[in-house]
Parts: sequence; C-alpha cells; structure tokens
Amino acid sequence: MQFGPTTLSPAEESLRREVREFLAAELPPDHRPGLGMAARHDPDFSRKLAARGWVGMAIPPEYGGRGRTAVDRFIVTEELLAAGAPIGAHFVADRQTGPALLHYGTEQQRRTFLPAISAGDCYFSLGMSEPDSGSDLASVRTRASRVEGGWTVTGTKVWTSLAHLNHFFAVLCRTSPVEDGNRHAGLSQLIVDLHAPGVTVSPIPYLDGSHHFNEVALEDVFVPDERVLGEIGSGWRQVTSELAYERSGPDRWLSTFTVLREFLREGPGKAVSDEEATVVGRLAARYWAIRQLSLAVARALDAGAAPAVEAALVKEVGTRFEQEVVEVLRTCAETEVDADSGSLFHALLAEAVLTGPSFTLRGGTTEILRSVAAKGLST
Ligand SMILES: Cc1cc2nc3c(=O)[nH]c(=O)nc-3n(C[C@H](O)[C@H](O)[C@H](O)COP(=O)(O)OP(=O)(O)OC[C@H]3O[C@@H](n4cnc5c(N)ncnc54)[C@H](O)[C@@H]3O)c2cc1C
Repeated sequence: MQFGPTTLSPAEESLRREVREFLAAELPPDHRPGLGMAARHDPDFSRKLAARGWVGMAIPPEYGGRGRTAVDRFIVTEELLAAGAPIGAHFVADRQTGPALLHYGTEQQRRTFLPAISAGDCYFSLGMSEPDSGSDLASVRTRASRVEGGWTVTGTKVWTSLAHLNHFFAVLCRTSPVEDGNRHAGLSQLIVDLHAPGVTVSPIPYLDGSHHFNEVALEDVFVPDERVLGEIGSGWRQVTSELAYERSGPDRWLSTFTVLREFLREGPGKAVSDEEATVVGRLAARYWAIRQLSLAVARALDAGAAPAVEAALVKEVGTRFEQEVVEVLRTCAETEVDADSGSLFHALLAEAVLTGPSFTLRGGTTEILRSVAAKGLST
C-alpha cells in the first residue's frame, strides 16, 4: 500500500482558480448548496460545466472528452463539492459510466454515449443493488434471457439513485445459471433505457421525505445486443473494477463540507470561542490529511497504477469522517437543529443528520471496504 506525498503544480492551482471564478459567476447569490453528490439535478448547470470542459475530463478527445488527468478531475470535483454545486445530473455518468464504457464498451457504444456524457447531456444511474443483494452483489436475481437480437430482462433493482431523472442505467444481471457453485460467473451488464417499455420507476422516500432513491422494476424489458456492456459473463469483473472508480474521490469526504462552511458563516461570527476554534481546527486538520490521501490516489492513477486498496481505505476513512463532521457540528449548534428556522446552517445540518447514515453504506459499506483492504494487504 502506498500513499505518495504530492502537491499541486502551478498549472493545477490555476485550474482551481478558474473553477472558482466559474462558480462565482454561475451560481446565483441565493444558490442553495447541496450535500456532495446528492446536490440538485440541474441539466443546465451540467451543460454549462461541460461547455467549459469540466465534464468527461477523463474521456479522450476522440470521444468528445477532454483527455485530462485524474488530478485535474480531482481539482474540479473538489471545488464543485466544496461549493455544494448542483452536480446531481451528470455526476455518476462522469465519474463511473464514462470510464466503464471507455474500458468495456464497443466502439459503437463509445461513439453513441461518450460524446453525450461529455456534453453534460446524458445521465446514468447504477443498477446493482436488489432487495436481497447489496453487499453480496453476486447474489443478484435479476435475469436476462436470450431472445432474437438481444435479451429480455426481468427483476427488481433498489436504491437506484435518481433513476426518475436519468436516461439509462447499467444493470447487473444473471445471464446464465450458477454452475459448480461459482456465483461470479454468468453475470453480465446491460445498458437499459429507463424509459423503455416494461420499466417502472417508483420512489423510495428518504427519511426526510425527499425523492432520491427508487425501486426499478423490470418486466420482460427488451435490450438489444448493441446495449450489452462488455462481455456476456464478465459482469462481476467489470462491476468490481467499476466500483474502484467510485471510492477514492473528494465525493467520499466532502459531502458535509457545506455544513461546516455555513456554520462558520452563520455560527460563531466574529467572536470565535476557544472551544469553537479548537473544534474547527481539528476538523480542518482532518480534512487536509484525508485530502492528501485522496489526492495521492489520483496521482497514482495518473502514473498508471491500480490503487484499489488505497481507494477502499480512503472511502472507509473519508465517509466516517463526513459523519463525524455532522456529529461535531451538532454538538456545536447552540440550539436544537431546526430545519425551518431560516438558517441555512440549520437546514443543511438537518439534512445531513437525516441522510448522513447513508454515507458509509453507498458505494460499499465500511465493513466491506475493510474486508477489501484486508484481502488486498494480505496478498
Ligand atoms: C445514498 C445511497 C445511494 C445508493 N445508490 C445506489 C444506486 O444508485 N444503485 C445501486 O445499485 N445501489 C445503490 N445504493 C445501495 C448500496 O450500494 C447498498 O446499500 C450497499 O451496497 C449495502 O447493501 P445493503 O443495503 O443491501 O446492506 P447489506 O449488504 O444487507 O448489509 C447490511 C450490513 O451488514 C454488513 N455486511 C454485509 N455483508 C458483510 C460481510 N460479508 N462482512 C461483514 N459485514 C457485512 C454491512 O456492512 C452492513 O452494515 C445506494 C445506497 C445508498 C445508501
């Protein structure tokens, strides 16, 4: 395991300044910041960001992307999350589906989807979890049967973030039965149009009543051969490598940063008590340390390494820290948290209290990440 020390070059620092200037110009003064990647789904914002070249940064120019480094994407993502910018529409396609299509997609799929993703026009959800399959993904029961010209898919996916607003989702399903006890064989990924006949998207409200998740029922949904992602039977390998993209970035440690920022704006004001200064100083030091770990993973990716264990550890540490920020600020708040008090700090804190438990679940639970890291370190 290696987290090499690294700093940003002058060119990288100048990209950060450009993003800050863009955000200052594009986000209205009354912009309501969001919590990390759960921020608002705003196609106009996604397209504007794309027009500046900051969506599809990891995708090569021949497919409409920008061919930038992982560190450049890290810098842009960090600034967007710190501002609570409305990145909900493009975030998953940009972070995860784009790279997966680049690695496993056919030439036709790359030419169809990657330019649209890079333009901030095409949005994807993730179709992995099922009612009885979360951590144990190999137990998925959604199945696809061979028919002329493609596959028909039947099953139910749950916790499908933003399926009610997005265009497609990559569905992990079983395309052949388990043989010889090898559950990892016979799984495949299909790109399913969320508006196709046979697809029913139903909301699963969050604790605070907001609509983020869905249950997606698939009943004999026809998926043509050209929408098979990668190879039939290689779904397990593809999905596990795809999960590595989603584990180490700033979205795993900045989800509650906007709560801290509003606390500082509204809370202590000019007279910061020693106690508050200590609390904020401790949080700032932890932010900085975790940021260095996360940045080191981005540098390693740019150097051609595959830091899956390091990425798992960043998520394990980062998402627990996101929750700790909420607990610390809750203790600092002078009154009971009141979402309707007119204070943005209180509104964000209330949202974070209700949605924060999910941070250590989504994208792999803490226990699963520890298990990934332990296995990686022992081999
Ligand atoms: C905000 C949010 C957004 C999400 N978005 C999506 C999405 O868009 N698409 C999608 O497909 N899924 C999505 N998910 C689902 C997410 O990936 C699953 O919740 C996660 O994989 C855990 O699965 P589970 O909920 O079934 O919990 P379970 O797997 O049932 O786990 C329950 C508990 O048991 C522990 N556990 C399970 N197995 C082991 C083990 N082998 N060893 C030790 N402990 C274990 C877990 O750590 C956990 O604490 C989302 C979840 C959240 C919270």
